[in-house]
Amino acid sequence: MSTIAQRLDNILATLPADVRLVAVSKFHPAETIREAYNAGQRCFGESRAQELQAKYQQLPQDIEWHFIGHLQTNKVKYIVPFVSLIHSVDSVRLLDEIERQAERVGRVVDCLLEVHVAQEDTKYGFSLDDCREFCTAENVATYPHIRFRGIMGMASNTDDDRQVKREFAQLKQLFDEVRGNMPDASFDTLSMGMSHDYLMAVEQGSTMVRIGTTIFGERVY
Ligand SMILES: *Cc1c(COP(=O)(O)O)cnc(C)c1O
Repeated sequence: MSTIAQRLDNILATLPADVRLVAVSKFHPAETIREAYNAGQRCFGESRAQELQAKYQQLPQDIEWHFIGHLQTNKVKYIVPFVSLIHSVDSVRLLDEIERQAERVGRVVDCLLEVHVAQEDTKYGFSLDDCREFCTAENVATYPHIRFRGIMGMASNTDDDRQVKREFAQLKQLFDEVRGNMPDASFDTLSMGMSHDYLMAVEQGSTMVRIGTTIFGERVY
């Protein structure tokens, strides 16, 4: 068994059956992704639009590609034709552009709203209040080519586990609250947890974890 296959197995063994694993393959070459694919992994996360587009063209068509990085509006067009889920929608302006491009290609694109809870100002996202305010049946109805699937968030990068848990709990609480106001049941995804904190995220109610380093090793930028 290859190392990547073993690592995937080890991670899957720690996840409840209803928590999905996104293997974050950014900065890793197509051959590395193929190794994970051959081990059975079908869902991969990337953070740069053109890198994602290139890998989509090189790799098997049954891969589910997730976009997890900051997405510039002028790059939306590269991924909208095929992307399965955009985790990182961090502004209304970006939603407007995804709607425009999705309509152009005749797709409905699944999206998560990225919500900022970490105590670091380098991270993008809606504030808790802005997300709460935005998520009404009325607002959502103005985006017929976007399916609002849930929320994505990151905790602070700190050794203080209590703080990390508190931030994940805030995201979970927001998710439950917003879900109650949404028009249908497709708002079902809470994407939180990375290599170093995913067990705490799952404990706090995550339904989707995004794990890179633990599967593929350190990235070389
Ligand atoms: C890179 C990245 C990850 C994966 O991080 P690891 O620490 O390598 O598991 C998860 N989520 C987002 C948004 C990322 O940019």
